[in-house]
Amino acid sequence: MSVIEALLDLQDVDNRITECEAELKELPARKAQENATLNGASEDLKAAKATLLQFEQRVKEYESTAKELKDKRDDLKRGQISLKTQKEYVQFSIQIDQVEHDIETAENNARATMDELPGAEARVLKAQEAYDAKKGEIEACCAEFDKRIAEVKAELAEANADRAEKAKAVDDPQFMLYYERLRSRGSLGWPAVVALTPDGVCDGCHLQQPPSVSQLVDQNAKNAAKGGKMRIIACNMCGRMLYR
Ligand SMILES: [Zn+2]
Repeated sequence: MSVIEALLDLQDVDNRITECEAELKELPARKAQENATLNGASEDLKAAKATLLQFEQRVKEYESTAKELKDKRDDLKRGQISLKTQKEYVQFSIQIDQVEHDIETAENNARATMDELPGAEARVLKAQEAYDAKKGEIEACCAEFDKRIAEVKAELAEANADRAEKAKAVDDPQFMLYYERLRSRGSLGWPAVVALTPDGVCDGCHLQQPPSVSQLVDQNAKNAAKGGKMRIIACNMCGRMLYR
């Protein structure tokens, strides 16, 4: 195997590693996005529960008002018995009538509010069902993400182990150093090893190379075929290693 072939193998593994790393970076964000869609359903449920609670509290308030008023009416009626004058008696009667009227109003309000309860309860139930369904959907989806994360982690571990082997196979330190330098440049230097097309164009940056570069690349290939030492032939523009 020529040093270029060994580098191409290494480059394949490095591509796999990059893909795994990119996916591992992206998956948690997608999972978080999925979880965030539950917020809408959660808000609906909260609002429905708050409305129901409001109705229930208002019923309690009206009922307690009615009870207080009834106590007041009973007190007035008890007091009325011991009154001395007709005038006082009439005054108490007027007050009692007023309180009776207030009791009726409070009781009517309590009943009217109670009528709202079944609808509000149904809305809570419906919102709860929607929330549970959405939650189940998201949990299934997140379980898929977790499964994928575990798979990619395993793939990455395997690729890293593979990389150590492939790097050992590159038996020319100069090529290795040059390759690593290109790799560290990211997209500007990647892929580090590219073909020189039959018409002499760098497959990395697509610049036409001078004929001398083509000759050197071909010479390199011939040397390698004979088991000889190869030279680094780089693109004039992007510096990537060229081969044929
Ligand atoms: Zn180039």
